[in-house]
Amino acid sequence: LIDVHVHLREPGAEHKEDFSSGTAAALAGGFTMVCAMPNTSPAITDANTLALVQKLAKAGCRCDYALYLGAASDNAAILPSIASQAVGLKMYLNDTYSTLKMDNVALWMEHFEKWPKQYPIVAHAEKQTVAAILMVAQLYQRPVHICHIAKKEE
Ligand SMILES: [Zn+2]
Repeated sequence: LIDVHVHLREPGAEHKEDFSSGTAAALAGGFTMVCAMPNTSPAITDANTLALVQKLAKAGCRCDYALYLGAASDNAAILPSIASQAVGLKMYLNDTYSTLKMDNVALWMEHFEKWPKQYPIVAHAEKQTVAAILMVAQLYQRPVHICHIAKKEE
């Protein structure tokens, strides 16, 4: 199995989880690959933070893994150059435990415009935000994976 949405908390919150403990648990549960979310501390938002987390993941992971890049208010232009090193782009559109929240639709559109079409976009969206991101996806004629759908209205 592949888990496309894990939080391994390294770097920044290793007391909760790290690449070693999280991937050991994954293997125990039958998962041989995990895709780690970018809302770490620091968040994975550019080449430098990606290199840092890749190094930590390589040292700690016990199974196959891939990393998401985090969309931020200032990195839509630089992410395409490192997109091939990631499993996809993660957009945080509602409250989150990181610095990655983007509540400006113009910023979402910039990411949809620039992120390479062959790589996935996944979004943390709740309530009305689900409708808003589906509208943006429709405008750009791109698929989007919505995380954390839990309520009837969503
Ligand atoms: Zn999550």
